[in-house]
Amino acid sequence: MMEKDLRSRRLMNDQMTPEDLERINRLVADTKRFLEMYATLPYVRDEFNEDSEAFLAKHHLDVDPEEMKFLVNDEYAQERKRLDEDPDAIDLLPEAAFRFRQFLANKFAARDMMIDKYCKPSNPRMIKWRERQMNRCLAGVGGVNKAFVHCPLAIELDLGCSVGCDFCGLGAPKLQKICRYTEENAAMFRQILADAHRIIGDAAGFGTLYLATEPLDNPDYELFEEDFVKEFRFIPQITTAVADRDIERTRRLVHKLYSSAGFIHRFTLRSVEMAEKIFAKFTPMELLRVELLPMFPEAPTFVPFTVVGGQAKHVKEEDVREGDPGTICCADGFVINMAEKSIRLITPCHMTDKFPNGVAEPVKRYFESADECAKIMEEIIEEYMITDIPDEEPLRLYPYLERCETMYGDSLQSRFGGMIFALDKLSRPYAKRVIELLQDGTWNKHEIVRIVTGEYDANPENVFWMLNQFWKQGYIYDSRLFGSIQA
Ligand code: SF4
Repeated sequence: MMEKDLRSRRLMNDQMTPEDLERINRLVADTKRFLEMYATLPYVRDEFNEDSEAFLAKHHLDVDPEEMKFLVNDEYAQERKRLDEDPDAIDLLPEAAFRFRQFLANKFAARDMMIDKYCKPSNPRMIKWRERQMNRCLAGVGGVNKAFVHCPLAIELDLGCSVGCDFCGLGAPKLQKICRYTEENAAMFRQILADAHRIIGDAAGFGTLYLATEPLDNPDYELFEEDFVKEFRFIPQITTAVADRDIERTRRLVHKLYSSAGFIHRFTLRSVEMAEKIFAKFTPMELLRVELLPMFPEAPTFVPFTVVGGQAKHVKEEDVREGDPGTICCADGFVINMAEKSIRLITPCHMTDKFPNGVAEPVKRYFESADECAKIMEEIIEEYMITDIPDEEPLRLYPYLERCETMYGDSLQSRFGGMIFALDKLSRPYAKRVIELLQDGTWNKHEIVRIVTGEYDANPENVFWMLNQFWKQGYIYDSRLFGSIQA
């Protein structure tokens, strides 16, 4: 490797020349395209293995065949692992591997910023509520929750979806109604955005203009998007399963990502033919900030996560594969539907018979005007986003939290992975008794405190404090969100 190349690995973007930046972007884009083709099209492995140079030339990918082999061939698996795990070994990584790793690290860092900062509402009740749901999800959907951004707002522009994917994780119904950008609807939409901005804060600008809908079903999507950008100065992310429906329209949407502030878009690939079309119609540079999600079984990396939504007629938890979060829902807050003028509160959960889409939806209300929509939002925050443990309700742990022996001793462990709460490490002598009473599920907070202070030399304030910690951690069942436990 040339000395200059090695030195450039330590430079920040603003220390590099435009030519170097251009070269690195191109390298990352071509590497990404190669990896996506390899992961998506069933015949690419054989073609590449047979003649790697011819394969790369055919697809106009300006990358070193040996560097691509390093990234994908099994014979380099040990070496990849060794270099990946050794922070001092970055100079030994081929340049394509180094730059692509850097690209992914930046993307994950941006996602983590969204989780910790950008998607955090400014409303104090919402902040606490969202934090509690994020903690709950760590056990309630498993470790994958760490990748969920928990954005506090999604706006659906239609009722239902025209695509009908059999893998739909949100059980979207058939397309029934589209909200067109009429003068009246546009005015209401702009007012709703402004109210959401006021109530939720800047975090509302990291929401989306779709949820259980296909954004490109709406012929006026771009006009709504423009209003969104005017309000929040940020392009809302789209996930579309019909990027191939009107290539030039899709191209214009993607190009906007590079000219305004925006993060990424996602294309769901429904079939080999669709993947081939996307690769043929878009250059690697155009799709640098577009994630491709192959959702067809012929794709070498296809994993049938997540068996929720339309497929799950009768959900048996034991059928869900290990590590599957049982939900694809990244939103945690309000969903406003412009087509039917409804507003609902949602929060992700592991799918069950009661919540087959892996989403709890404790409340849905209808509005006639933007003012009414804002009023309902504020009411929902007040009624459903409670910050303190309910006074009179019996308290109990979520049913997926099981008491068992783990490598840390006596523990609470989630059936869905994600967390282990080591009870032996708790310093208060009555901590396990509090857990036992929560396992009983018959005592309210005052009764728990009374029982514990009767049995131990414990200060009531400290027992309340402990219960509050368990509440904040999302261990204690919230009947406002999930209904009564018997239901
Ligand atoms: S996955 Fe998206 S495009 Fe497909 S049916 Fe569901 S909402 Fe529609």
